[in-house]
Amino acid sequence: MSKRNYILVMFPYPSGDGLHIGHAYNYAVMDTYCRWLRLMGEDVFQPFGYDAFGLPAENYAKKVGREPAEVTAENIERFRGQMAHMRTQFDERLVTTDPSYQKWTQWLFLQLKERGLAYKAEREEPYCSSCETVLAKAQVRDKRCERCGSELEQRLMPQWFFRITAYKDRLIAGLDTVDYPESTKAQQRHWLENLTDWCVSRQRNWGCPIPIEGESDTLDTFVDSSFYYVRYCDPTNTEALCGPDKYRQVDLCVGGPEHACAHLIYARFIHYFLYDIGVVPVEEPFKRVVHQGMITRNGSKMSKSTGNVVSPDDFAPDELRMHLMFIGPYTEGGDWRDGSIKGVSKFLRKMRTWLSENGSDAVDVNTLRVSMDKRVRSLQFNTAVSDWMKFYNANKHLRPSVEASLAIGEMLECFAPSAALSHAPAR
Ligand SMILES: [Zn+2]
Repeated sequence: MSKRNYILVMFPYPSGDGLHIGHAYNYAVMDTYCRWLRLMGEDVFQPFGYDAFGLPAENYAKKVGREPAEVTAENIERFRGQMAHMRTQFDERLVTTDPSYQKWTQWLFLQLKERGLAYKAEREEPYCSSCETVLAKAQVRDKRCERCGSELEQRLMPQWFFRITAYKDRLIAGLDTVDYPESTKAQQRHWLENLTDWCVSRQRNWGCPIPIEGESDTLDTFVDSSFYYVRYCDPTNTEALCGPDKYRQVDLCVGGPEHACAHLIYARFIHYFLYDIGVVPVEEPFKRVVHQGMITRNGSKMSKSTGNVVSPDDFAPDELRMHLMFIGPYTEGGDWRDGSIKGVSKFLRKMRTWLSENGSDAVDVNTLRVSMDKRVRSLQFNTAVSDWMKFYNANKHLRPSVEASLAIGEMLECFAPSAALSHAPAR
């Protein structure tokens, strides 16, 4: 049986700004990784979904006098188009706002409550008077609201809490069993050095309702995102969150370093709980976690407010993907220099022409395959692209056979999917 891989990218919040270059760096590059494993004959589970509840959509809808559901549906449509434009092969499995998903968010709440792990208490929590809701510690940036930047006050209100503190020791001990970046483990240990119970009530409409009579609050969106990767395995099951025969542990989870703490810790906590009640057969949700680096533009952080952004929509997919891969070591990111994408465009043009001019010269396809395999599996996408360029330069004087061209084209297709095979000669 071929090796089975569950490759997870952290699902996006479908904001009104559309998919940005940071998303593209995460999704398009990891799509190359998945395509490569598939080409090597392995089985790859590459699911996708949308973390669609949240304050920005609600605030925006209120401002323009529309329904958050309507705005969110439009945003998701736009994201889908952008994912298709980048030629990714993700398999969309769920949207957290769907009733079929909310049912399990509510089920989870009730399971926790039944075991004394969800409780109501009056406690001072950071409150944003502009967003009219309490916030989790993770949504506070320098005593201000992460969403709108308003200064926060402390408010005493009755709230629902998840007793994450009961899992503190296990969450710390579990870090020794997983392959996460050392910096992420250190941040989690530190975050768990100050753990308090997780306040999950939000005084907002655009969220999953707390399934208790008389409650008008909704659940923190971090609850929605704490088990989506389990539900991905069995999204249409109406009897169970995930059938025991359907569950797969995530082999590799890739997402931004900003999720090193809150999201990843909440997901680990909920997964431990699901393990304790027999829903999942392993304790840790993610065997391995990697954070992609950040893409800057002309030396500075991309920011909509200063207009210093590039959109994935503005580039042809093959060039975009290969340029992002080439920009720097994947976990460090790199700087987007306007115009430098021409380098990979030129390479792809030359490569396609070369692949279409066939002869009978011997070209060492196997060495290329072995080196690409090593590069891709170790997430060295930048050196993989430079290996492609070296390969071309070393072989451009030769005329490969049709067979060799097709084999090379198949490998190139993992990196530049819309080009390679269609430009290879017909048999
Ligand atoms: Zn706010």
